[in-house]
Amino acid sequence: MKLLLPSAIMLQWTSALNAAGRREIGGVLLGELIKTDTFKISEITMQKKGGTFCHFVRDPKLHEKPIHRFFERTGHNYERFNYLGEWHSHPSFPTRPSTTDIRSMYRIVGEPNIGANFAALLIVKLKTRSDLEMSACVFRSGFPVQEIRVYREHLGKRIHDWRGMGRAKVAKTRQTGVASNQ
Ligand SMILES: [Zn+2]
Repeated sequence: MKLLLPSAIMLQWTSALNAAGRREIGGVLLGELIKTDTFKISEITMQKKGGTFCHFVRDPKLHEKPIHRFFERTGHNYERFNYLGEWHSHPSFPTRPSTTDIRSMYRIVGEPNIGANFAALLIVKLKTRSDLEMSACVFRSGFPVQEIRVYREHLGKRIHDWRGMGRAKVAKTRQTGVASNQ
């Protein structure tokens, strides 16, 4: 699976992350299916409160309205425009999903009321004041975690994540081997 990230959303993230400092912030990813297995992040919702330096819990109530407005704007065309998943920041840790992150994502895809057959998790962190580092994974009920590549829309340039940040090389782990950082 591939994610396309428009520069407007990059900007939204860099400014919000700068403002949030060491506090984790997060929200929902709303996307458009571009072609098989390729989604564009069309919009994000943002919750700036409720996070600490090592923890973020999304309050579903705060995101209902913007999600609903997104569906209205896109004509309730759920095949093409839909909930893509979750995002949050890791200002103090690498952009790897923690065990808590992984657990809550499997809860989302296993929840029949949500009805999402997959959900992505994107974790962002400021690399510099104006640039981002990120990692993205997709979760499907009953399947191992899978890495997703994120590309800047138009530029087609892959965004560097923790895997390319000059850490010591380790043997390739299986996709289920996403390590915890907390
Ligand atoms: Zn996390």
